[in-house]
Amino acid sequence: MLEVHVLASGSDGNCTVVQLDDTAIMVDSGLSYSRTHKLMEAEGIDESMIKALLITHEHADHVNGAGPMARKLGIPIYCNPATFGSFNHGKVDYHMTQTLQGFQVDEFGVLPLPTKHDAADPNAYKITAGGKTVLIATDTGIFTFPLRKALEEADFAIVEANYDQKMLREGPYPEPLKRRIESEIGHMCNVNSAKEIKDTAVNENRKIFLGHLSKHNNTPDIARETVSRITGIKRYKLDCLEFLGDTRTLEV
Ligand SMILES: [Zn+2]
Ligand SMILES: [Zn+2]
Repeated sequence: MLEVHVLASGSDGNCTVVQLDDTAIMVDSGLSYSRTHKLMEAEGIDESMIKALLITHEHADHVNGAGPMARKLGIPIYCNPATFGSFNHGKVDYHMTQTLQGFQVDEFGVLPLPTKHDAADPNAYKITAGGKTVLIATDTGIFTFPLRKALEEADFAIVEANYDQKMLREGPYPEPLKRRIESEIGHMCNVNSAKEIKDTAVNENRKIFLGHLSKHNNTPDIARETVSRITGIKRYKLDCLEFLGDTRTLEV
C-alpha cells in the first residue's frame, strides 16, 4: 500500500514522506530534526524505513533540517548540483540528480520535474511505486509542461495553493514581496492552481491535496472554496493541513 505522510507544508517548514509497505523516501526537511522526529513518531513512521532525502530547492523552509536529518538517519541527499551547492548541509552522502532524468531509490521511481521559482534549479517530484504515482508540486509560479503532464498522470498530487489574490493584495506584505509572490517565479494562487487541476482532470480517482498555504494570505476555507468552485471537486474531497502543526497520512 502506498501512503503519503504530509508532516508539514508551508513557509514554516515542508516535509513529506512517501511510504510503500516498509520502505519510504522523504521529500524536503524544513523542520528541525527533533520536531520532525516527533511528528514521524505521531504518524507511526519508523525512521529506519526512510532510504533517501530528496530536496526540491534550497529555501530554508525546505532544507532547514536536511543536513542533521541525513546524518541522523544515515541516508543520502538527492538533488541537482545547483540546489546542493546553494544550502548549508554539512558533511552528507550526496547523490546527484538532473531535472527530467529519472532515477530509482529501492522501490521508488523518481522523476525530478522543472518548477518556476526564485531558486537555483527548483524541482517538483513525481514518485511512482506499487503501481501508483504521487506528485509533489509546490513552490512554483506557473505549471511547466512536464508538471502539467505529471499532474494529469498522478493518482495523488500535492498541488500548491499558496495565496488568495485579494488577501495578498490587501495584506501586510511589502509591495516588492507581493510582486515576487505573484510573479512567474513565485507561488501559485488558489485560482491558478484550480485551473491547472481542472485542465488535467482525466483520472476521476485522482486525489488532490492543497499544499503550501500561506498563513497570511490564505486560509484552508478560502483555498478549498475557490478550488472547489472552479474545478467542481466537492469541498470535502479537497484536503489540506488545517493549522500549524497539523499532519496528515493519506492512502494513495
Ligand atoms: Zn516553500
Ligand atoms: Zn521556495
